[in-house]
Amino acid sequence: MDDCIFCRIVRGELPASKIHEDEHTLAFLNIVAAHPGHALVIVKPHVANILDLDDTLAAAVFQTTARVAKAVKAATGCDGVTLFQANEVAGGQTVFHFHIHVLPRYTNDKLLPFWPASSPGREALDDMAARLRAVL
Ligand code: 5GP
Ligand code: ZN
Repeated sequence: MDDCIFCRIVRGELPASKIHEDEHTLAFLNIVAAHPGHALVIVKPHVANILDLDDTLAAAVFQTTARVAKAVKAATGCDGVTLFQANEVAGGQTVFHFHIHVLPRYTNDKLLPFWPASSPGREALDDMAARLRAVL
């Protein structure tokens, strides 16, 4: 992808403050940070979102994410860490190259809004679980 921002960072055509790099993944600081230390972990090949992620890349990107989360916690002294990962426009994705946000969190920082939720009940839960198992 010639004009993908994250592909250009992988190729070294755009600057990035890198944290970690290996065969499959790259981690660098978000240029617009929720808190200092807000990092992004990406897969190196151009994969648009989680729906296109293969098992090798999925394993690699989560391994790097776990390492980066530990580094963010140790380096910033934050109270907690939240992972955020968006897919497709409706999912809130704005850069269409798979990435995971690693967000340092602080007590009562009220950073992320949480969704209103209600319990569907066991029957509906079991029905949905069956639908998901059928396509897994
Ligand atoms: P999304 O909204 O897709 O989950 O996250 C995309 C993220 O990429 C945004 O938080 C945005 O700040 C970050 N971003 C966009 N362009 C650049 C860039 O050129 N460099 C870096 N480091 N981050 C970027
Ligand atoms: Zn890309």
